[in-house]
Amino acid sequence: MSTDSLGYAVHVCDPLPISVDEPLPDGGKRFFQPISTTLVHGERDAVLVDPPFTVGQIEEVAAWVAASGKNLVAVVATHGHGDHWFGDDEFARRFDAPVVATAGTIAVMHGNVAARPFAWDKLWPGQIPDTPVTAITVPDDTLTLEGHALRLVDVGHTDTERTSVLHVPDLGLVVAGDVLYNGAHMFVGESAGGGLDAWRHAITTVESLAPRYIVAGHKDRERDDDATRVIAESRRYLDDVGAALATCSSATEFFHAMVDRHPDLPYGRTLLWVGAKTLYALREPGADPVAAAVGGWF
Ligand SMILES: [Zn+2]
Repeated sequence: MSTDSLGYAVHVCDPLPISVDEPLPDGGKRFFQPISTTLVHGERDAVLVDPPFTVGQIEEVAAWVAASGKNLVAVVATHGHGDHWFGDDEFARRFDAPVVATAGTIAVMHGNVAARPFAWDKLWPGQIPDTPVTAITVPDDTLTLEGHALRLVDVGHTDTERTSVLHVPDLGLVVAGDVLYNGAHMFVGESAGGGLDAWRHAITTVESLAPRYIVAGHKDRERDDDATRVIAESRRYLDDVGAALATCSSATEFFHAMVDRHPDLPYGRTLLWVGAKTLYALREPGADPVAAAVGGWF
């Protein structure tokens, strides 16, 4: 998609298997979500948004970036979940570009590094490179790409805390990280206690930017980036989560209710199950939030 010399391209990495043998409640194997990486490019220069996190994925996306022939001027992270930035330092060094994020994202990055031994490195042993937090903020959270403004917009809680999106007004584009999903179950494991309402508010903030295109951090590559559809589907999904949480008495019941409501979603049942286990563990008296969050994965 492009206007004049400005455009964007998306690479989607296939879902990775996860090192947990126990099947999902529907009997399925565990896979992570597909991961989208966006290259916003001008004639010569480009900004890379949310590159993936395992060594194999990094090689795949680095080859894609190199084949574009563009000169990277920044690597941008939309939020602190490691799947969207654990590869940042590799890209920054290979392409000699700074890592840029909001202050909120940088704070959450540190938490994700601390969580590596308890979750990430158990799920993908030996597959994640060193992940120093090297991200910096830029004035007004705004980058310039060949005269076009690219602005990181804080949207608050979505699938984690203190998230942002990258708005490219001259393209009518929002690179949305995990504020919107497109063809995958949404991760609601961090949405206990008002998180769904905060997330809805974030979607309204994105809508107020009047985008034509939204690139979701987890998307089915067969689906387009039509902003109106992506917003409507993500809203409906969160409403269905709210309704299912109000009526289902167990994580298993919730899982099946969401699969029944969204039988055609091609991806994300593992993340649905992780979120379900976490939210229902948090309902137990005296539940420990960290234990509930980690336990959801195993
Ligand atoms: Zn996320």
